Amino acid sequence: MAVKKKKIGAAGRFGAGYGKIKNKLIAVEKKQRVKQDCPFCKGRAKRAQKAIWECKKCEKRFAGGVFHLE
Ligand SMILES: [Zn+2]
Repeated sequence: MAVKKKKIGAAGRFGAGYGKIKNKLIAVEKKQRVKQDCPFCKGRAKRAQKAIWECKKCEKRFAGGVFHLE
């Protein structure tokens, strides 16, 4: 029999007992993994601190989401 793959992706590390919260976590972590665009020059932004983002291209610093930019 083939090994069953967990559907829950990155949240698989939490095992049983976390229920719904896992789905929320998956949504957040998926966004974290995609490229974060600078709203000024569309370059790549990097998180400097919590909710503070820095663009590598235009070197602007701006506030954004804590874990990802929209
Ligand atoms: Zn920029």
